[in-house]
Amino acid sequence: MSKITLKDLSHSYLEKQNSNDDWALRNINIDWKDGGAYALLGPSGCGKTTLLNIISGLLNPTKGKVFFNNEDITLKTPVERNIAQIFQFPVIYDTMTVYNNLAFPLKNRGMPPNEIDKRVKEIAEMLELTKTLYNRASGLTADGKQKISLGRGLARSDVNVIMFDEPLTVIDPHLKWVLRSKLKELHQKINRTMIYVTHDQTEALTFADQVVVMHEGEIVQTGTPVELFEKPKHTFVGYFIGSPGMNIIPCEIQNGTAEVAGIKIPTNSEIKQKSNFSKTEIGIRPEFVSFSKDGIPVKIIKVSNTGRHKIIDTECKNGKIKILSHSSKEIPSGSAFLSFDKKYTYAYGDSRIIE
Ligand code: ADP
Ligand code: MG
Repeated sequence: MSKITLKDLSHSYLEKQNSNDDWALRNINIDWKDGGAYALLGPSGCGKTTLLNIISGLLNPTKGKVFFNNEDITLKTPVERNIAQIFQFPVIYDTMTVYNNLAFPLKNRGMPPNEIDKRVKEIAEMLELTKTLYNRASGLTADGKQKISLGRGLARSDVNVIMFDEPLTVIDPHLKWVLRSKLKELHQKINRTMIYVTHDQTEALTFADQVVVMHEGEIVQTGTPVELFEKPKHTFVGYFIGSPGMNIIPCEIQNGTAEVAGIKIPTNSEIKQKSNFSKTEIGIRPEFVSFSKDGIPVKIIKVSNTGRHKIIDTECKNGKIKILSHSSKEIPSGSAFLSFDKKYTYAYGDSRIIE
């Protein structure tokens, strides 16, 4: 088992780089602790697969280094790194049976046949593959094949880290839920470092103890699901996590105080008098906005009732503000005033939190 460290890592697929856009990864610094359950969360194209391929050694980084237990392994081959990587689309041997597909990585490591048999059956049971164990893999559906791929990744218990790259993309929704909780269970049982890549916040938040959020090639925040919810360090985290996401409202800074629509907004940020930001915003989650006697004047645009909650769309002079309230709550119509819970109100300068 290993701690994995990425130090000052940047990667570009281009020979020459002229602007930020030419980098798939920028200035990545992170420690993945031994035995941790991590999710790497971000939209398509933000650099997740590139990052995994650098950890596994399929790709050499343009800049920076990779360490396993403080040993520099940047130039080591994938085999030397002893990692299990499960790809987005299944990688299996079509002509072999399901059994032999699962046994293959174990045979390669010279495990005795009776132990292989026990392990293969355990994995098959977990992934609901027992009934098809002696069928050829070629006859299986896409999700059946992906289960084999998962099984091959999970079969060996001596790897440094198991990395999953959006492994449930081709799996149907019900099984998705089952497999996700099984992976979590398995993590608790075998205690290997696991990195689970996804663009789906629900998958990330249910699987991981620590969620690493990526945006345009950068890590914008690493934290527990609660930390990401309560204190987004970057407006992207606020917007990407939560449903609906955080309200991000342009604000003015006057004498160290944020103002929205001419109203002073108390925040949990310490705003310095002389900050030179090209853009300043207030971030407040819809959960922490309420109607009040005075405050920010808004127009009510729309009320949607989801059964458990009401989502109220409003608009003030500086932009739209959403409110999440109990479905039983009376909602004013026409115009109203809003106030924000100061504890969860932050100011952002050029998209980053002002602390
Ligand atoms: P993700 O896995 O988060 O969707 P990727 O790591 O695949 O993101 O891609 C990050 C960026 O690098 C994207 O802009 C993508 O177009 C680019 N990219 C990925 N793979 C290659 C490649 N083999 N050659 C050139 N550009 C690539
Ligand atoms: Mg990818």
